[in-house]
Amino acid sequence: MVADLIDARLGCWKNHLIDSCFIPSVATRIKAIPLSDLPQPDMLYWAFERNGAYSVKSGYHVLCEEERSGEASSSNSGLVAGFWSKLWKLGVPGKVKHFLWRACTDSLPTRINLMKRKILNDPICHLCGRDDEDTLHAVWGCEVVKQVWDCDFNWVNRFEAAHGSFQDLVEMVLSKPRVREDFATTAWFVWAHRNKSRLNEKTTPLNGIREAVRNFLHLFQSCREPPVSYKKQRQRN
Ligand SMILES: [Zn+2]
Repeated sequence: MVADLIDARLGCWKNHLIDSCFIPSVATRIKAIPLSDLPQPDMLYWAFERNGAYSVKSGYHVLCEEERSGEASSSNSGLVAGFWSKLWKLGVPGKVKHFLWRACTDSLPTRINLMKRKILNDPICHLCGRDDEDTLHAVWGCEVVKQVWDCDFNWVNRFEAAHGSFQDLVEMVLSKPRVREDFATTAWFVWAHRNKSRLNEKTTPLNGIREAVRNFLHLFQSCREPPVSYKKQRQRN
């Protein structure tokens, strides 16, 4: 029961219990859910309607989405599989997809994660010196890296993004086919900048990342010209 995860007396999540029952990315998402000040009974909630009540129309849309993603059966696993399927089908190099997968599963060596493993004592971001460095902060939320996103990604609701996980942000972006590759590659550049600047290594400056992304994607896409099929070759000869 969800209620077992909530300290009703203090009105907060039982963080320790959540951390011990769920993988880190799921635990982070649960703990990010704000709790009501008033005690509420558990209830069934259909996530695909605003009012939480199941409707045939929304159920039909969920099934169609599953079918499109080529995945089957249970609604939740189908949607999750659809998310990963979209991620692995991105038209970007494997290293960018792998980075995004690690970011979404909270397995990047952020300062928060290094602290959890007792490698560091201080979770504070070295770029802004203000907030803890988790994945969302490192790649998106940090005041210092915000300039990279401000121009072309100002359609993202920053308030909503700030209150979810990095995976929530990626889900939001993957729903917009025209910006997926741009977003993934920009995130990869920002993460590389963060790491290299910490080590005082040469890196693309933040104000040059957008142009570097455009050049990078242009080069990658121009190298991916579809191979001429054997049949077409025979037709030509
Ligand atoms: Zn920061």
